[in-house]
Amino acid sequence: MCGFVGIIGVERASAAAAQMLQALQHRGQDACGVGSVDSGRVHLVKDLGMVSQVLSMGVIATLPGEAAIGHVRYPTVGAGVRDDAQPFHTRRPGVLMAHNGNVTNVPELDAWLRRRGVRLQSGCDVEPIMLVFAEALGGSGVEHVKDAVRAVFDRVRGAYTCTAVLEVDGHDTLVAFRDPFGVRPGVYGQSPQGAWCVASESVALDAMDFTMMGEIPPGAVMLFRPGEPPRVDQIAGATPRRCMFERIYFARPDSKMEDGRVFHVRWALGERLGQEWRQKGLEADVVVPVPDTSRPAAQAMAETLGLPFREGFIKNRYSGRTFLMPDQRARQSALRLKLNPIPEILEGKRVILVDDSVVRGTTVRRLAELVRSTRPAAVHLAIFSPPVRHPCYYGIDMPSRDELVAAKLPEIEWARAFGVDSVTFLSVEGLRATAGSPACMACFDRDYPVPVSEREKAAIVADRRGTPG
Ligand code: SF4
Repeated sequence: MCGFVGIIGVERASAAAAQMLQALQHRGQDACGVGSVDSGRVHLVKDLGMVSQVLSMGVIATLPGEAAIGHVRYPTVGAGVRDDAQPFHTRRPGVLMAHNGNVTNVPELDAWLRRRGVRLQSGCDVEPIMLVFAEALGGSGVEHVKDAVRAVFDRVRGAYTCTAVLEVDGHDTLVAFRDPFGVRPGVYGQSPQGAWCVASESVALDAMDFTMMGEIPPGAVMLFRPGEPPRVDQIAGATPRRCMFERIYFARPDSKMEDGRVFHVRWALGERLGQEWRQKGLEADVVVPVPDTSRPAAQAMAETLGLPFREGFIKNRYSGRTFLMPDQRARQSALRLKLNPIPEILEGKRVILVDDSVVRGTTVRRLAELVRSTRPAAVHLAIFSPPVRHPCYYGIDMPSRDELVAAKLPEIEWARAFGVDSVTFLSVEGLRATAGSPACMACFDRDYPVPVSEREKAAIVADRRGTPG
């Protein structure tokens, strides 16, 4: 998971891109970068670290131009080194590119590029996308860009939404394209002055007072120039299967996606979870969210059950998101720093503890320990998504089945393993009913929209473990 932004038609576009990236910091805290284009010259800064550390005003001042793209990284592929930070750039043809997603056939693309005398310089999977695009770009007209995107859709498998700046018909142009399944998000918006921007989430547009105009359509390429309406070309037949995990965990609740505001999706999931919890015949005194992601769902669950909703934890707002930490030890120690229970809310109560998901199980075990330390009468764990039983190959860091607690342990052992009195997951049917239109839920139901071969799966897992594929 990562976040990208692109902007064209504003003075000091790099400063605008850095501001938009601040709004997407929750999508990746490992590395970041901004590249700008000024009269055909590319200026690029990227490094390990958060936006406020890497992209200071002094640094941004060295990136002139009215077009820029930016990126925050959460590494799912590659070793997480500086060379893997985005954006990436080729000189001939001049293309500056960043993406969010996961390419599943990197070894195949590497071999194809080598046969053409092109070598990958990094472990970042936007590089093969950019090089396939650049190889297919036979000129600088709109039709050439469409052909290059067609070549990417034909050759590059996986889930990806990309943004780029390149010269088209003699003008710097902001380009965005999204794979035919539209698994990873992407939106675009306009300023009152006619500037355009694209981003992984609409909150980045809000940060610049741009108005969201729509989604980047799956299977399409969009071209943006200041003061002109955007050009949209459908390149491949689309079968949209947006990622449900974005709605459950990754995206900010104030972001808007195809199915509306993420806050409302989480609210609906909480209502449905409340209905399913009631059917079990359990009783409780208070509903407590694990902040921040779970708050809307916990409120909705409390309303559905007619129970009080209380904040039982105070969150240290200066700690990072535990799921995005690079290893398990870092995740565990970060959790204690991040959350502190309020004993007066929990002591002697039958507590429903609401969380978004259970992946490895360690976080939830530690949470249960924290609640237990306040001597509650009972702890009932309620999760507003189904058990994660299958790996994600599309950009979320849970690639191997042996890391997934719900796949390792039989259901009857979950409550004991997590240290709680009961565990209730939202059903897959409940998630499907709430999602409405078809979505990717492969980590819950194993229905992968983009085929991934066994060889590709092994290569992705090996890459995450730092072993040769
Ligand atoms: S497998 Fe899960 S996390 Fe991965 S894209 Fe699909 S819904 Fe999202």
